[in-house]
Amino acid sequence: MLDRAIFNLDALLENVTGVSGGIRWILERALEGEEISEAEGTHLFAADGADIPAISKVADELRRRKNGSRVSFVVNRNINFTNICYMGCKFCGFAKRKEDEGAEWLNVDQVVARAKEAWNRGATEVCIQGGLHPKVQGDEYRNIVLGIKTELPEMHIHAFSPFEIWYGASKTRMSFADFIADLKECGLGSMPGTAAEILDTKIRMQLTRNKLSAERWIEIIRAAHSVGMQTTATIMYGHIDGPMAWANHICTLREIQKETGGFTELVPLSFVHSESPLYTANPELVRSGPTDAETEKMHAVSRILLNGWIDNIQVSWTKLGPARAHFMLDRGVNDLGGTLMNESISRSAGAANGQEITAVEMVQIIRDAGRVPVQRNTVYDVLDVFDDHDPRPFAPLVERAGADPLTFLKDKVPTR
Ligand code: SF4
Repeated sequence: MLDRAIFNLDALLENVTGVSGGIRWILERALEGEEISEAEGTHLFAADGADIPAISKVADELRRRKNGSRVSFVVNRNINFTNICYMGCKFCGFAKRKEDEGAEWLNVDQVVARAKEAWNRGATEVCIQGGLHPKVQGDEYRNIVLGIKTELPEMHIHAFSPFEIWYGASKTRMSFADFIADLKECGLGSMPGTAAEILDTKIRMQLTRNKLSAERWIEIIRAAHSVGMQTTATIMYGHIDGPMAWANHICTLREIQKETGGFTELVPLSFVHSESPLYTANPELVRSGPTDAETEKMHAVSRILLNGWIDNIQVSWTKLGPARAHFMLDRGVNDLGGTLMNESISRSAGAANGQEITAVEMVQIIRDAGRVPVQRNTVYDVLDVFDDHDPRPFAPLVERAGADPLTFLKDKVPTR
């Protein structure tokens, strides 16, 4: 049972002074449950000073009304079946040429072996994405799905970005809807809404040379939803973008959701600059990722703009690290994402965070924030509520180098 909703802005902002009039007016309407326009969203994204904690408090109240005291996570494994890709997206530090050191190609048997290992460690999902390798045939995607489903019929397969769908559909000369429907029949459970980057053509020209245009991304997402394939939604921010592009992007997702209802969550992905060619070639033009204030606003304003339409706002611990992810839990966020077991995309782009946060550690982070940890499946059905017990412990799959990722909790976590 949720506590009563707080509709009075002054009551909510008791310790926050100096909030500007325009922001107050928008936040009062958000608290009343009114839809906030794209122009108002731009204003919120551009806010600074005392306006930022005010926005975060309203986002947290909207989060509390939807999700109560629960924070969820999914036990999953990332499998990047190849990092060989010739698309040349300028922000990408993940792609390699086949002759490069570290170039990797996993055949179907190797992907299935990793999925089995994940299943034996309690995973309910494998998240599979790969580069657009010239060797990938159109049927590679269905072969991966069939291979896993034959061995692990209950494993949820969350796989293939809209860019991969575009690639596979063009190789098989199928329509997007037919290609996705075929994968669904093979056992694909849902799709990541990655490759959205920022749905602004001018910015995309600089990020990806518009190889997958915003219009095409939206078309593929709509095609997925039309055949009953749910997807996540993402935004990549902190490069050459800004408040107008962010508000436009989030409101575009909101309009799609009104039509289809097919998004399960929004995952803001902060731009990681250090190995990204976009930054290394243009350090004077491209920002080195978002500021802390921008990251806070991205999660909070997204919650406000999507209120009533997308109920789950996830924080990416691979991008921000566990401490910043913990900080976001009272800024509109209700989901910590996946345990991942292996993660190579963010790490290749220079993110310093580990490859896995185990279920036990997820629970520690969530409890430390004063909330109730919940293990969910990919589409947000509750699998376990850790209110009086802990998850089954597993050591991290890959041996950790460097500091324990939960160092920041060490003095705070109660011993159980
Ligand atoms: S972002 Fe994806 S499509 Fe673009 S270069 Fe990297 S791996 Fe290839």
